[in-house]
Amino acid sequence: MTTATPPPVSEPDPSTFACPSTLVGPCSGCQRSTHKYGSGGLPLCQWCMTLAREAWGPAVRFTSTRAQAQ
Ligand SMILES: [Zn+2]
Repeated sequence: MTTATPPPVSEPDPSTFACPSTLVGPCSGCQRSTHKYGSGGLPLCQWCMTLAREAWGPAVRFTSTRAQAQ
């Protein structure tokens, strides 16, 4: 496990550094600035996404889940 401690919510998500400011919006979880809109945008910052993935388990995918081996 390599769970990093999230920085304060006043710190923008690193994803904002690589996208136009027009695509930046508040994370749905912690309200920090994150790349929310447009191509590659996510409603959650990478920290909340990491926590969500851990909560949901490794089976979670953004693409289709229908082809998973049982
Ligand atoms: Zn967040």
